[in-house]
Amino acid sequence: MKLIKKNLRLAVVVVCCLLASLIIYGAFSLGLSGNRWFSSSVNTALRKVKSDVLPGRIYDRNGIPLSGNDTQGNRLYHQDELTRRSLVHAVGMKDGTVKNGIETFMSYLLYAYDASYLSRLSSAFSGRMRSGYDLRLSLTHGLSRYIAEQFPQGKSGAVVVLNYRTGEILSLNSFPNFDPYAAQGVLSDPRKPFINNATQWRSAPGSTFKVITMAAALQHMPDALSKTFTCEGDYQVGDVVITDAGHVSHGELSLEKALVVSCNITFAKLALELGDEKLRQTAQAFGLDDHLLFSDLVVENSSYPAKNRIAKEVAWTGPGQSALGMTPLHMALVAAAIANDGVMMEPKLLLQAVDANREGKAQISPVIYKTPLTVAQSDILAKAMRQTVVSGTGRNAAVSGLTIAGKTGSAQIDGQELTNAWFIGFIEDKTLPYALCVVINDAGEGSRQAAPLAGKIFSYINSMR
Ligand SMILES: [Zn+2]
Repeated sequence: MKLIKKNLRLAVVVVCCLLASLIIYGAFSLGLSGNRWFSSSVNTALRKVKSDVLPGRIYDRNGIPLSGNDTQGNRLYHQDELTRRSLVHAVGMKDGTVKNGIETFMSYLLYAYDASYLSRLSSAFSGRMRSGYDLRLSLTHGLSRYIAEQFPQGKSGAVVVLNYRTGEILSLNSFPNFDPYAAQGVLSDPRKPFINNATQWRSAPGSTFKVITMAAALQHMPDALSKTFTCEGDYQVGDVVITDAGHVSHGELSLEKALVVSCNITFAKLALELGDEKLRQTAQAFGLDDHLLFSDLVVENSSYPAKNRIAKEVAWTGPGQSALGMTPLHMALVAAAIANDGVMMEPKLLLQAVDANREGKAQISPVIYKTPLTVAQSDILAKAMRQTVVSGTGRNAAVSGLTIAGKTGSAQIDGQELTNAWFIGFIEDKTLPYALCVVINDAGEGSRQAAPLAGKIFSYINSMR
């Protein structure tokens, strides 16, 4: 009898523990993925709310209207076509043609899902439609439009510009884009213009990844800065030969110089010397293999290749090839962390939500996502990236009157005729704290294709102040 009682008590304790953990997990996951659940198409309660509520308007950071409603309840977008196209992925569409744009991802605010029963009841009696929250985003429509105008015609890719001190995104462009007023046939277009390439497309980032390999060297090799590396022009690892662009031989060089000239051989040797585990550790400190559950936007997780790899795979990861998968948004965050003394801020799109009485619902403050580097390490990386723009592969991103730091990349993807051109970089100026990532697919070298566009964007940002 005693034994039964004891077992019964144990069973009650176990059930209570299970219930408690379920409640905690529920609260935790709703806190983390609230927007994801509210905006889900399977949420029938939201579908009902949508028919009863006039959605809030969407503004850019300067109060320029990006989305609104006409008297029949149709959604209106900016009057200029190129502006509409440049913002279609970030803002999204009410019908969800673009997945996870603000129009759908923030529908819990746009449709004021949190309205009290009293206000629901009063609008039901008065026959007036309720209104959702108006949203002010961190985007600037002028910069978005400028980028859409300057991006090479007919190419696919993405551009992300953000404030590295606050994480506020100024521009989130994906190419090809489309006009939300002419979206027929978009979903069956083989170029998939409805996909947001800035946040949903993952690829090996080519030599832009060398800043992470260099960070790993600074963190795990005490003599990294005093060491001399040798580049003989080709380097055999197993059955592959690693070479440099243009088949040059860099001779003897320091770690900084290897980044400035983007020496594949030095970074392949570094990866092998560090070993897969240490390189993975630093990559994970930058957010690879993490669940990127940001409050304002959905971003595909980045991945470092799986464990137990052979030497040639590890070697190719050093210069950013191999099976790495990263989004342009994540590479912009990597540049931003180097610019911001080693602190990576969470990317943000929402500045403020206000109801019909102009009462504030949310006033967003910056959130630290990760701190992958010490101040000293970020200074060393920033200096090497600055030198890359002064005298190395990033020269085409230079802007007179501004101190620019950056890194180019030319990612070789199987089956493509030309490489994907990458550039990450930032302005070293406390009054212009902006970082970016530019990717132009099937375009050629990052130094010739992506760096000049980055330079134009930095110039435009300088002219905005
Ligand atoms: Zn080399």
